[in-house]
This record gives sequence, structure tokens and C-alpha cells, in this order.
Amino acid sequence: MKITDIYKTKNKKDKAVISLEIFPPKTDAGVETIYKTVAGLTHKPDFISVTYGAMGSATQENKTLKIAEKIKKDYGIETMHHLTSINNDPEEISKILSDIKAKNVNNILALRGDRPVGAEISKLPDDYHYAYELIEDIKKNGDFDVAAAIYPEGHVNSALEVENIEHVKRKYEAGANLFVSQLFFDNEKFLRLNDYIRHSGIEAPIAAGIMPVLQKSQIERMIFFGASLPTRLIKIVNKYKDSPDDLQKAGMEYACKQIDDLLARGVDGVHIYTMNKPFVANTMMENYL
Ligand code: FAD
Repeated sequence: MKITDIYKTKNKKDKAVISLEIFPPKTDAGVETIYKTVAGLTHKPDFISVTYGAMGSATQENKTLKIAEKIKKDYGIETMHHLTSINNDPEEISKILSDIKAKNVNNILALRGDRPVGAEISKLPDDYHYAYELIEDIKKNGDFDVAAAIYPEGHVNSALEVENIEHVKRKYEAGANLFVSQLFFDNEKFLRLNDYIRHSGIEAPIAAGIMPVLQKSQIERMIFFGASLPTRLIKIVNKYKDSPDDLQKAGMEYACKQIDDLLARGVDGVHIYTMNKPFVANTMMENYL
């Protein structure tokens, strides 16, 4: 099933689409934990997306596809395969797309990706420079629903405080029919971008990316992703910095309040970054599905 059909059906009933994001674990035991968690979910998400090569993880054996295929086939949950262009040339992309099609996965989140840490630019393919070029190739290569990333506080490489709407438009015109946001902690920032996108005439659904803060060490990475920290969240982290269980509880509560507010304000969808933590997936699904 195409993910945009899920959006059409749920949004028509004034319901938001609730999706989860996972990443391919390095070990087989980690992969088994994913399957066990998915099998044990009493409330199933509308779809699960599986990252590709994020934070320098290996892509050679395409674990992303194996996981996306199995979740769809064995657990009956629709999946979305992330795909990046920075580490692939058009020939490789074409081969990966054939593999994805052959495994009956119909949805792709098309991204530029980031240069793997330590990789020399001269050794990376130089065919694609922006995500929209990958989106164009995916649309030419098969009947996929294609999603793209958006940045409520601007992309980290950009000096702008809010994303350049022209870049979003370019992805839309290339064929993206769903947008998924970078994580954020201040709902106003997401809602502002949501409004800009709507006013620019783009009609594709827009999902808000939410990642609960579970430990203090996460904060550094979140800043790397360009998310600003509201005072309320900084106070929570400071208050519970020496009490991991309390911080986890307070971080989940903060994320749930964000989601409650977003749902009340009529967002199309919420995409939850689970960080492969079973309790995040379980708690969020019990609360929101
Ligand atoms: P682009 O849209 O190409 O943007 C890259 C930069 O170029 C930005 O600074 C943008 O402002 C600028 N730009 C865009 N279009 C134009 C244009 N037409 N002209 C001039 N400048 C332009 N990374 C992974 O490696 N694997 C994953 O699985 C993964 N999943 C992600 C999921 C989500 C929801 C998000 C938000 C990000 C994800 N990322 C992932 C990270 C992503 O790859 C990085 O943020 C990357 O730096 C940008 O990717 P993009 O597709 O947004 O690139």
C-alpha cells in the first residue's frame, strides 16, 4: 500500500497518521529485538520507516531493505525505505530501486544524506547534489511513493532560521508527495514551516518528527541536527541530570505533551523517532493508536 493512501484515508476522518522510525541495528541480536518489539505491539503504527546509512552505518548488504520487507510481510505493517544519494551513483540507485520493488516495498524517503565521517569527498560519487535529483530518478524508475525531509529550523548547512521554501517546492515538483520533518522541541517552529508550505501551494501531507529526550548525552546530537532547546526542556534535563530514570520519564512526558498539542492543532501526521527503544515504541503506540 502507498503511504499517501494511508494519509488520505486517516486525514479524511480528521485523524493524524502515526508512524515510527527505526534504524538497522549492527548486530543480529539487535535486529531480532526489532522484530520482537514489532510483533509485541498491541497497537500497530500506520507505518514504520527504516533509515539507510544514517550516521555512517553500513549500507552494503542493505539491511534497511531486509528489515522493511520483513516488517511488511510478516507483521502486516506498511514500511518506508530511506535512501540516500551521497553514497550512490545513478547505476547503484537503479539497482537498489529494482531490489526494493522486487521485495514489494512501495515507499521511499529520498534524502541527500551526509558525508560519512572521515570519507574523502573525492572518493564519493558526484552525480547527485541535492535530494530533488534523487527524487526525480526514483520517479523515473518505478511506481513508488516518495517522501522528502523538511527542516523546521532550517538545515544545519544553511544560515536560514526556517527552511528555504523554494527547496521544499523543488522536491515537491520533482515528485515528493509526503514531507517528514527533522526533530524539533518547539512546536511553533514546526507549525510555522507547516504554514509556509501550505501557503506556497504544496498540498502533500506533512509529518512532524518527534524524538523523546531520554538521556543527557542525546542533547549534543540533537544540537547537531539543528534542533534548538526550549528553556523548559533545558530545565528538565538539568533537574534530572543525575537521575536517569526520572529524566527518561520526564523526557517522554515532554514528547507526549508536544504530540498532544500537535494533534489538537490538526497536523497531518506524527513521525516518532524511536531510537530503537522498545519502550518508546510501546508507550507511543499505546498513547496514540
Ligand atoms: P537536500 O534537500 O538536498 O538539502 C541539502 C542541503 O542543500 C540543505 O542545506 C538545503 O538547504 C540545500 N538545498 C536543498 N535543495 C537545494 C537547491 N535546490 N538548491 C540549493 N540548495 C539546496 N540521513 C541518512 O543518511 N539516512 C537516513 O535514513 C536519514 N533519514 C532522515 C530522515 C528525516 C526525516 C530527516 C529530516 C533527515 C534524515 N537524514 C538521513 C539526514 C539527511 O540525510 C541530512 O539532513 C542531509 O544533510 C540532508 O538531506 P536532504 O535530503 O534534506 O538534502
